[in-house]
Amino acid sequence: MKIGVIGSGYVGLTTGICLASLEHDIFIYDLDEEKLAKIKEKKLPFFEQGLEEILEKVISSEKLLPQNKLDTLVKETDGCFICVGTPTKNNSIDLSQIINSINAVTTSIKNNKKQDYKIIIRSTITPNTSKDVILPILDHELGELGFGLAVVPEFLREGNALDDFMNPDKIVIGSLDSDTTSFVRQIFKHFENNCQIIETNLESSELIKYTNNAFFSMLISFSNEIANVSEKIPGVDPYKIMKALISDKRITTKINNKNIIPGLESYLIPGCGFGGSCFPKDVQALVDYANKNDIATPLLKAVLDINSERANKMILLADAILGTLKNKKISILGITFKPDTDDLRSSPALDAIDILLEKNADISVYDPIFKLKSDIVKIPDGCKICFNIEDVLKNSDIALVFTKWKEFKILNSELLKQYMKKPIIIDGRGFLNEKEFEHGTCFKIGMNGNN
Ligand code: NAD
Repeated sequence: MKIGVIGSGYVGLTTGICLASLEHDIFIYDLDEEKLAKIKEKKLPFFEQGLEEILEKVISSEKLLPQNKLDTLVKETDGCFICVGTPTKNNSIDLSQIINSINAVTTSIKNNKKQDYKIIIRSTITPNTSKDVILPILDHELGELGFGLAVVPEFLREGNALDDFMNPDKIVIGSLDSDTTSFVRQIFKHFENNCQIIETNLESSELIKYTNNAFFSMLISFSNEIANVSEKIPGVDPYKIMKALISDKRITTKINNKNIIPGLESYLIPGCGFGGSCFPKDVQALVDYANKNDIATPLLKAVLDINSERANKMILLADAILGTLKNKKISILGITFKPDTDDLRSSPALDAIDILLEKNADISVYDPIFKLKSDIVKIPDGCKICFNIEDVLKNSDIALVFTKWKEFKILNSELLKQYMKKPIIIDGRGFLNEKEFEHGTCFKIGMNGNN
């Protein structure tokens, strides 16, 4: 099939590359010409394991065709995905990229006199956005030519984007009519026997995406609230408490006497909170949507409130250990919001750095992404950039781990002693091996006392 993709960020480009690898002809367009130029040169404009190799193949085979003109994309295709950003502005969803791209695509549809062109919204949009914002534009502009509209949310996780796209657990198709549903089903035909295809209306599809993100955010804040309680009870270890919870047979099932640990385990580990381009903004957008529609969302508000304290919890603990942070040398290990991505959007480490800068701390930062893709990560002013673990630890008073990169697993008391003034580390992700640290060297938030 000949399909367009508008927006070549994490979602658009992953969608484009993967569909092109499934033998569709994909025309991809972005306002950002620099990004398009990179893609043409077979270079991924962001970091995502495994994706650049496939990009190389699909550009060489001309299955993925970057376009500088939207008119050409529309002319060549029967429908397109809209994958532009939906960030937060003044605590509400900012739909300007959606509205601009819909306006631009309708103009191209009219220029090309395309009949029944299908528009598939892949971006995350709040309930009723398609009905109240997108449909009126399409009705007004394309009433005579006819059109199709679907909301087909993307569920990929950065760091796992390729596998998530190629092995989906579900494909949700919210659609205006059966013709558009069939069109979308045809695009995803490759997956129809391996995952659930959920057909629904536009509004449900919009809310399904928010429900997904709100649920996993809620688990993280739940575990952090339990950590807040534990913190006040000397000797209580919230990580063990969560381990016990996860072993409950309603969560961990047993097959042939083997425990099947569910994927949600990683959302039930207390730590420095969630970040990224989805959870914080999507929960906020849902709360704001509910608020504007007189719907109470106390649970979702609490999810955000609890999360907003987490980066500061790391700082408070460091402050309590050192007495003051003024002029102390602080090593930040991990600046991306999660491992295996270069994405810094709403990263807890950035919040912590802001607080540390205010406290006049002397900050050094190391993230494995600096070695993997040094050109695209922008570090806050006032921080020293280091390119390996040893460098960032050198002469440091305390090390704070914000991201669960595999490389940090090598950390232990010996390494800390070798480079730091005194071996002290705070594990903000609860993943370092306790056995590797002498008593009094490794701290975790939520624990009254250390290892
Ligand atoms: P992104 O910011 O990385 O990419 C958006 C791209 O759209 C940018 O390259 C931008 O230049 C381009 N763009 C903006 N306006 C345009 C226009 N009018 N015409 C053409 N291009 C335009 O965003 P992203 O992370 O890919 O997210 C896109 C959407 O998908 C958002 O709604 C997001 O919430 C959702 N989503 C993101 C993820 C994720 O992990 N990043 C996962 C699932 C869903």
